[in-house]
Amino acid sequence: MRYAVAVRELCEFTAKQGDLDLRFTPAPTALEGIAGHAVVASRRGPGYRTELSLCGDHGDLHVRGRADGFDPALQRLEEVKTYKGRLDRQPDSHRSLHWAQAKVYGWLLCQHEGLSGLDIALVYLNLGDRQETVFTVHCTATELRQHFERQCERFLAWAEQQLTHRAARDDALRSLAFPFGEFRAGQRALAEAVYRAAMSGRCLLAQAPTGSGKTMGTLFAQLRAVPTRQLDKLVFLTAKTSGRQLALDALNRIGTGAPQLPLRSLELVARDKACEYPDKACHGDSCPLARGFYDRLPAARGAALSPAGAWVVLDRAAVRDAALRHAVCPYYLSQELARWVDVVVGDYNHYFDLGALLHGLAQANQWRIGLLVDEAHNLVGRGRAMYTAELLPEHLARARRSVTAGASATVRRALDKVRRCWVALDKAQVAPYEVHAAFPGRLLIALQQCAAAVTDHLAEVPAQPDFALLQFHFDALQLLRLAERLDAHSLVDVSKPSARAPRSAGAGTSTICIRNLVPAPFLQPRFAAAHCSTLFSATLQPTHYYADLLGLPADHVCVDVASPFRAEQLQVRIASHISTRYRHRAASLSPIVALMAQQFEERPGNYLAFFSSYEYLQQVAELLARRHPWLPNWIQSRRMQEAEQRQFLQRFTDTSQGIGFAVLGGVFAEGIDLPGRRLIGAFLSTLGLPQVNPVNEQIRRRMQQMFGSGHDYAYLYPGLQKVVQAAGRVIRTPADRGVVHLMDDRFNRDEVKALLPGWWMAAPADGQRDVP
Ligand code: SF4
Repeated sequence: MRYAVAVRELCEFTAKQGDLDLRFTPAPTALEGIAGHAVVASRRGPGYRTELSLCGDHGDLHVRGRADGFDPALQRLEEVKTYKGRLDRQPDSHRSLHWAQAKVYGWLLCQHEGLSGLDIALVYLNLGDRQETVFTVHCTATELRQHFERQCERFLAWAEQQLTHRAARDDALRSLAFPFGEFRAGQRALAEAVYRAAMSGRCLLAQAPTGSGKTMGTLFAQLRAVPTRQLDKLVFLTAKTSGRQLALDALNRIGTGAPQLPLRSLELVARDKACEYPDKACHGDSCPLARGFYDRLPAARGAALSPAGAWVVLDRAAVRDAALRHAVCPYYLSQELARWVDVVVGDYNHYFDLGALLHGLAQANQWRIGLLVDEAHNLVGRGRAMYTAELLPEHLARARRSVTAGASATVRRALDKVRRCWVALDKAQVAPYEVHAAFPGRLLIALQQCAAAVTDHLAEVPAQPDFALLQFHFDALQLLRLAERLDAHSLVDVSKPSARAPRSAGAGTSTICIRNLVPAPFLQPRFAAAHCSTLFSATLQPTHYYADLLGLPADHVCVDVASPFRAEQLQVRIASHISTRYRHRAASLSPIVALMAQQFEERPGNYLAFFSSYEYLQQVAELLARRHPWLPNWIQSRRMQEAEQRQFLQRFTDTSQGIGFAVLGGVFAEGIDLPGRRLIGAFLSTLGLPQVNPVNEQIRRRMQQMFGSGHDYAYLYPGLQKVVQAAGRVIRTPADRGVVHLMDDRFNRDEVKALLPGWWMAAPADGQRDVP
């Protein structure tokens, strides 16, 4: 069996040594890189060949890649690198990697064209002044072959181990048994749908109710498809840490039932959660865990993935342990390990973000990936956030203050110019909120110049990072990246602060935003790059809304898994005499409180009450306390810390009684599990419709233009999705029984009822107004 490896991956494995050094970043964007390569090619003579597909073998190793350019007239193979800042600051480890790659390409070309020798050139293009710096060596074909063989030999032992691992993994997965013996109700249907989608290389949108065992059902089915579909990796993506833990728990459960299964799984966490030295910079002169990183990486990597042939789940603690035992950075070790594991559990942004690690690795190494997207209803909002960039006046003000002492005059001037353009824009705007047809031109140029100046500055003085300057710089870079791709999927808006908000000293007062409304054009290629994908959640209705906004492939399939719960477990009551519309808020307080108290008297126990805002929540809670002081209640407050959230949830016990007040769409409205007596009912004093404000009205207009359904896409669907998620907290197991009060007359409308789960519909009347 042959092992295929990309030239870059091969050389990164064999030729990187010394410190981890990220001083030479931020790197050019992909578009800047492509444009830079085109500039170099345009300067070469006729006959210059670009993007040469090359490959070659050594033993069981098949090496492939694309060389940047070949000039037949000069007999020169070129490896082109674009950069910003100063080339003489480039770390040695980067340069040696570039030489290693260029020489491998050199041998592959000599072999392909029957050449006896070549000039090998590293061409560095400065994206600022567009000057090229070229380093050239002449190599004979024999020298290049020896170089190629040396790299291959260093990699071969590892590759053979990988091949053995993969063969054993696939053998074991073919006979993997479901770890619980029996599937839960609905779980088998879900698992079968996931398996079918994986086998046919399709994208599946799976709605499956809470309690049906989605995490285990999807993971198990995907694992079973791995050997047949020859998948390299499974990528399990979640919106929240709690979802990651569920996936790791499921993997551990599978491992307990099949200890002989050699499967390696890895948890990816954010840098700020994994960093051991948050006050340092990521290079050897600053951080001890970056010093000599590549020298110690092989030992750390080997230790983390051992013993060979065993079940390994590398959660955050395990990666940290392996990293610290070998004095390397845990965060960057986990990035290295992502190449060699079978299952990666991470956040959405690890695959979908603009510069996402997993997508980048998958592209570079041509991995066949099986994608699982947990709680996929969150991907609309998270996708929008990933492709949105904001410039905040306070960030500019802080950056300007921080550079007054030490930074270069160029940076100060560049920041001042950004400020002048920003203030001019601010003065020209009368309305508190305005949408622009394009990004303001003068400000865009000022930001580009500022980004170049700061990049040069960072290359000059990398040892002591200026965090205020860096923050503004990263804001600007994200905005510039998105400005390059501005289209109908996004808008440019400028918002002035409300009259009550304090003015930020030293900056324009407006916030400038490239706001993504439809993430589909960004997400679509990511789904297309995966061999198969499953997006699953308890709330994915209507499916066309998610397909449109997430950019699912045209041939995607949908499955709506039947609920494992019986209709008689849940009474659904609509309080038609209550309106929670903003203008009826004051009048709604008294009937809401009366209904809560009546329900509590009928069946004392634990309830959750959801509201559209903290103000509304507070008003109802105060009235309830005045009128029914005997009824215990506890309240979600703004910006609750994790410990406070835990305390809130700890009030729900098997023997406690009372009502917890929470905000719809907040931390207690999804992802929490309070089975049995811990929660016996919920009150929904809202349809969850997003507030009508200028931004949401823009979303409505754009949704109307693009999908012909403005109100539903902007308000109704996102609102009802939150209602169903929140109500879904009540019934968690087949033994649970509970009640949901939908407190608004609009819940009686047909278009609203159509968005409620089907299994609610058959609830018995029980002398109350139930959903028919
Ligand atoms: S420990 Fe922190 S500062 Fe050091 S290399 Fe890792 S991420 Fe960078």
